[in-house]
Amino acid sequence: ASESADEVRTDSAETTETRNRAADSRRNPAIVHIGLGNFVRAHFGRYMQDYNEKAKELGLQQWDIRAVDRDSPRTRDLIEYFDESNYTYDVTALSQEYQGTKTIGAFKELVNMGTSPEIAIEMLADENTKVCSLTVTEKGYSCDLGTGAIIMNPELEHDLTNEGSQKPKSMLGLVVEALRRRMERGHQPLSMMSLDNIPGNGFVFQNAVVGFARLKGCLRLEEWIRTKVYFPNTMVDRITPNTKLASDAVICEPFRQWVVETRFCNDRPQWELLKTKGVNKIILTDDVIPYEHLKVRILNATHSMFAYCAYLCGYRQIDKAMADTRLLYMVQSATRETLTTVHPPEGVDTTEYADLIVERFGNPRVSDAVARVCEDGSMKANSFWKPIIQDHVFADRRFPIMAIGIATWIFYSSGEDGHGHAIEIRDPMMGETLKPIAKQARKDKNVRPFLCQAFGEEIGDNEFVAQQVEYWYGRIVGEGSVDEFLTSMEKE
Ligand code: NAD
Repeated sequence: ASESADEVRTDSAETTETRNRAADSRRNPAIVHIGLGNFVRAHFGRYMQDYNEKAKELGLQQWDIRAVDRDSPRTRDLIEYFDESNYTYDVTALSQEYQGTKTIGAFKELVNMGTSPEIAIEMLADENTKVCSLTVTEKGYSCDLGTGAIIMNPELEHDLTNEGSQKPKSMLGLVVEALRRRMERGHQPLSMMSLDNIPGNGFVFQNAVVGFARLKGCLRLEEWIRTKVYFPNTMVDRITPNTKLASDAVICEPFRQWVVETRFCNDRPQWELLKTKGVNKIILTDDVIPYEHLKVRILNATHSMFAYCAYLCGYRQIDKAMADTRLLYMVQSATRETLTTVHPPEGVDTTEYADLIVERFGNPRVSDAVARVCEDGSMKANSFWKPIIQDHVFADRRFPIMAIGIATWIFYSSGEDGHGHAIEIRDPMMGETLKPIAKQARKDKNVRPFLCQAFGEEIGDNEFVAQQVEYWYGRIVGEGSVDEFLTSMEKE
């Protein structure tokens, strides 16, 4: 909760504000977005800005985005900034050849759900809200991304109680209460659109929401969500580094892409009006999976694999690491190795796609922090790497680059680099569990307990996988550091 007294709003003040909002006569249809980080401001915000400009030009109805975020210094900073800037902000796209700034005014509101939970629920429950979109990172779903099983935490426990459900702290508590109110009021369901970088993000979101409704013990609601609420899958792409302050201008790369499954249970913007060809296009399709497959496997899996190597070689910025020929070679080899597991969408040149990724990582004007890409390693390993490993195993094909990537992650997870420096591991789901296992692996060179804990026994007990990782891990430990190891590889 908010620390300072003047930021805490009383319930009655909140109720008045809720009424005022209900009486608000601007009735553009709305999208409520949960989790207003930089990425969504650079990506979805930009597409919606373009959409509203086009709609205005054609005399069609525009759409408003209303945002909700958790209480944090960043959220408070951003609300203050938006109040002053009349809810506009700049997005600057940069590369060596390009610089362009666009002012975005698609967001109309930002509500702090920590201090104003009722307003947040009502925004979603409002009949005028047609879509709920979200970017809350992997952790925000509070579930196992593979199985969809809910992983309990104190926020979810709170939101399961009668009192807590009216002042939700978690994303799941918020959306399930809002859906319950919509059902009770006979409103149309909301389309729930995840814009997070998670394979099958719509399926994951659906499993989490249905799972939480089940835990609440409300069968009718569970059934209503299962049958009436749609969760379109999406694929999003635009590298957007974090900024120091939430109010700093958003910097990103010029490239952007968005693929959306046209499975909505309520109205949606007619995104068909936007550019559907060339760079920065939006693709509306009934099957996102082939696009997502290509992007998650080639971009995200390579990005995180490379980040651990880069970190352990002393780099703190991705573009600087890409200027190291040993790491550049590793990225190129990783994309080539992983392309053997990809069934691309029709008409996509995968080699061109992979080469573009190498260029995008190296963009010196959008310098992403290596530590950010290293975050949440256990979730990314399961979400990005595991399906690739499974495909290699199924095809009985060796995967040396991926095995080096995993070996490097094990080295990193011990919390100490090869030169005795401590590493701050940001992985709330499994970081602390994996650390002692990784430390033990450093002593006995046995990677199997780590693989079992991190990926489950199916991978950990697979001899073909374990042998490959063990071989490369042994080489890294033998050389003393990843830096030395890569240098020795270069000589081979
Ligand atoms: P970020 O950490 O800056 O933003 C995440 C936002 O979600 C924060 O505002 C946080 O407060 C909020 N949040 C987290 N958990 C929440 C919860 N339970 N309830 C409500 N709000 C919650 O991250 P970002 O860089 O904006 O990226 C967000 C997501 O976008 C990533 O996880 C990824 O899936 C996707 N994405 C990012 C990039 C990129 O380059 N940054 C590219 C493609 C996709």
